[in-house]
Amino acid sequence: MIPFNAPPVVGTELEYMQSAMESGKLCGDGGFTRRCQQWLEQHFGSKKVLLTPSCTASLEMAAMLIDIQPGDEVIMPSYTFVSTANAFVLRGATIVFVDIRPDTMNIDETRIEAAITAKTRAIVPVHYAGVACDMDVIMALAEKYKLYVIEDAAQGVMSNWRGKALGSIGHIGCFSFHETKNYTAGGEGGATLINDKSLVERAEIIREKGTNRSQFFRGQVDKYTWRDIGSSYLMSDIQAAYLWAQLDAATRINQQRLHLWQRYYDALQPIAASGRITLPSVPPQCRHNAHMFYIKLRDEEDRAALIRWLKEAEILAVFHYIPLHSSPAGQRFGRFDGEDRYTTVESERLLRLPLFYNLSENNHNTVLNSLLSFFS
Ligand SMILES: *Cc1c(COP(=O)(O)O)cnc(C)c1O
Repeated sequence: MIPFNAPPVVGTELEYMQSAMESGKLCGDGGFTRRCQQWLEQHFGSKKVLLTPSCTASLEMAAMLIDIQPGDEVIMPSYTFVSTANAFVLRGATIVFVDIRPDTMNIDETRIEAAITAKTRAIVPVHYAGVACDMDVIMALAEKYKLYVIEDAAQGVMSNWRGKALGSIGHIGCFSFHETKNYTAGGEGGATLINDKSLVERAEIIREKGTNRSQFFRGQVDKYTWRDIGSSYLMSDIQAAYLWAQLDAATRINQQRLHLWQRYYDALQPIAASGRITLPSVPPQCRHNAHMFYIKLRDEEDRAALIRWLKEAEILAVFHYIPLHSSPAGQRFGRFDGEDRYTTVESERLLRLPLFYNLSENNHNTVLNSLLSFFS
């Protein structure tokens, strides 16, 4: 069976994890956490990066940091993972869903302004497949209406928009190091990028259970106390050691993923040219990270037929994101602003193909041949 995904392994993970064990400090903010955070700050140009247990935790931290209150409204696409919305719902917010663009499956930046009300506090762009949302338009709207921008860059590690790393453009950015993402911290993990300097001090407090323990460890205060709301949002140093192995090999992982992505693209181009399928599109301002390779079939039935075909060839292909506004919780906690022209129909056509660092050339050829024979 060719799986849809396998967690990336580069080979140095065990050695670094062993070294974390020998350091005598396994809890958060140990040596590997510091190394990873510095690497992320330097490579992505963020003021402060804090490792967390997951992107979900990072999004929750972000909602606390910008002080979301019951009744506040937060704008985001409906075509996203539940955590994008849940983090804000936990603080009592109402989610306002906006339609997506069919070319990138990202929030349609031209429909955001109409969704802004006096209650709007934040916009949450989700960089689907590691392809950037139009951050120029989104940041300009945020400035005009005094809103926060929280980037859900779970899929966007190593991608950029006009040369700026995804996650480093909004006030706060959130990364995922889940095993289904490009880099993993041993299965689960995340990072919060604090790009607005005024939010850094409080971010450290929220992450440390609401205490100023980080300042205490730096010798800035002589005792630490309960200062604010917060939770346990630190990553274990064992996980940071695994992540360090992956960041150390980030360029290699990125190049290999881009190589596989391009092979799919080139092989399927003639089928797309005949109008049979639609291929992903990457706007010229964006350099992507090959987080995902998807195709769009004619409709849901066509997609189901291809999934069955691939399954018979022992290949797993999957789709995801039942639009949040059609889910029971989405209806309870949110509303869709404007018309759903693309979110539902486009999500029903989309199919994700196997793409992961350790996918062998042989297995990739098997997938490609099976796809080509389906379409012939
Ligand atoms: C994976 C993902 C998340 C959640 O990440 P975790 O690290 O699993 O919490 C959130 N948003 C998007 C868009 C994702 O793809």
